[in-house]
Amino acid sequence: MSTSNSCQKQQTKKHRHNEKRHRCNVCNKLFSRPSALQTHMYTHTGEKPFQCPSPGCGKCFAVVSNLRRHSKVHSNTPSPRHRLSAQVRHQFIEQMLLRYQASQHYQEWTQQQQTPTVIH
Ligand SMILES: [Zn+2]
Ligand SMILES: [Zn+2]
Repeated sequence: MSTSNSCQKQQTKKHRHNEKRHRCNVCNKLFSRPSALQTHMYTHTGEKPFQCPSPGCGKCFAVVSNLRRHSKVHSNTPSPRHRLSAQVRHQFIEQMLLRYQASQHYQEWTQQQQTPTVIH
């Protein structure tokens, strides 16, 4: 029996294991990725470069994951009571008006009022 298990060079050369070589020059903390260091630096500088893209909100966050978590606030609240931008609110009101104008009630109401008031 020949166990010709050629000893394959099991040199599991460390695949340049992400060495933590990005050091914060403020607190000397080490980070494996420059982006991680960058994010960490914001905690020192107080910068909050990640701004909520939702119109009318504009909340800022130092960490992108915080912004992601925050953005759920907007996606889960389709309620018109939520703060909306003027444009969105205008569209919403116009839609409501169109629907309302198509209704019989509105037809009768305008005949009585003559001057339809616009909801602000
Ligand atoms: Zn630091
Ligand atoms: Zn927001």
